[in-house]
Amino acid sequence: MSDKIQMKTPLVEMDGDEMTRILWKMIKDKLICPFVDLNSEYYDLGLVNREKTKDQVTIDSAEATKKYGVAVKCATITPNAERVKEYNLTQMWKSPNGTIRAILDGTVFRTPILVKGITPYISNWKKPITIARHAYGDVYKNSEMVVAEGSKAELVVTDKDGNESRQLIHEFIGSDGIIQGLHNIDKSIGSFARACFNFALDKKQDLWFATKDTISKKYDHRFKDIFNQIFENEYKDKFENAGITYFYTLIDDAVARVVRSEGGYIWACKNYDGDVMSDMVATAFGSLAMMTSVLVSPDGIYEYEAAHGTVQRHYYKYLKGESTSTNSVATIFAWSGALRKRGELDGNLELAVFADKLEKATIDTIESGIMTGDLYLLSSLENKQKVDSESFLDAVNERLSALMV
Ligand code: NAP
Ligand code: MG
Repeated sequence: MSDKIQMKTPLVEMDGDEMTRILWKMIKDKLICPFVDLNSEYYDLGLVNREKTKDQVTIDSAEATKKYGVAVKCATITPNAERVKEYNLTQMWKSPNGTIRAILDGTVFRTPILVKGITPYISNWKKPITIARHAYGDVYKNSEMVVAEGSKAELVVTDKDGNESRQLIHEFIGSDGIIQGLHNIDKSIGSFARACFNFALDKKQDLWFATKDTISKKYDHRFKDIFNQIFENEYKDKFENAGITYFYTLIDDAVARVVRSEGGYIWACKNYDGDVMSDMVATAFGSLAMMTSVLVSPDGIYEYEAAHGTVQRHYYKYLKGESTSTNSVATIFAWSGALRKRGELDGNLELAVFADKLEKATIDTIESGIMTGDLYLLSSLENKQKVDSESFLDAVNERLSALMV
């Protein structure tokens, strides 16, 4: 077929592990390659190849993403002791997502995919809520101690000339206790802020940010100030032109407003808030298998993926030759997200429109009643029908083909 959609610039393709690796190939074979003359630079991030290349392939794929600006990634195994045995690894290789995030200095945005028949637990949520989690510092890089009764704990900072400043934390009189030292850095907070402002402009959605600056007058206040300063200096006019707003409030007020809202905005969270709230939002919207994820760097580089893992349990069934009903929607949306962004950056309208059609065909399939087992359990549609992994993709292909004529 010579009338396939052409791509000017390559897309970085990061293959992965287990069941999602099986789905990856099926998605390409059934939904991408019949319609698009796929121009991708392929990196195999499967654990076998990470071992073979001493994890160099992960670094190379992140560098390629910097070069081309857009990547799509399959879920990958983060090795633990069990995996070291299973794959005969010479090292417990680091999480690829962590490595890529560090190289791109990126922020992860997670957005639920809404379909008719699967209603959020919070019934007034009509539009997706995207959570952006700051992925540096705070309690995740802390230093903590158990302190004995009678001790005095102080904060001590030694500057580069050797001058000390001290501040009392607590005198432990009458009881043992605990202390914790947290830090963050302006550079990381600034990158986080820019990634959030850029993403809001990209999505044309309002951005919310919240901390507890009334209590934490230096630490949390710093986050508020950095966001505010960057917004005033670099984004105020762009937001006005786009017709969107930046809204700052206290974290407890934000939680209350989120629950009452109808959705349709981006919620930027400090590291711990994002950890907790992303699980709350994902669960309330229905299913982790319906959650997309994109890593955005402060200078506008995008890496798309599904939020879920490699679905190991289904893979072992697959290896035994049993039928699986694994949800491929989040991985399909990773592809559509990456193709749309590639299309936007290259001025390739045809490619961007294809991405829209791919998403529409996927949602239409589920809303017509055809779905995988995980959604079948949640859906309120009367005509719902559970299909296996491959049949679902065939059904999407049928609808997509009809949209492409
Ligand atoms: P998981 O792969 O997300 O799967 C956990 C369970 O959630 C599955 O067993 C399945 O439940 C359900 N599930 C998740 N995605 C599904 C889908 N697409 N369709 C249907 N059901 C789905 O998490 P995990 O088992 O904790 O982790 C497996 C591997 O993935 C680990 O090696 C981990 O390191 C890796 N991981 C990678 C990423 C990433 O690359 N971004 C993220 C998280 C985890 P049932 O078994 O009940 O059907
Ligand atoms: Mg969490």
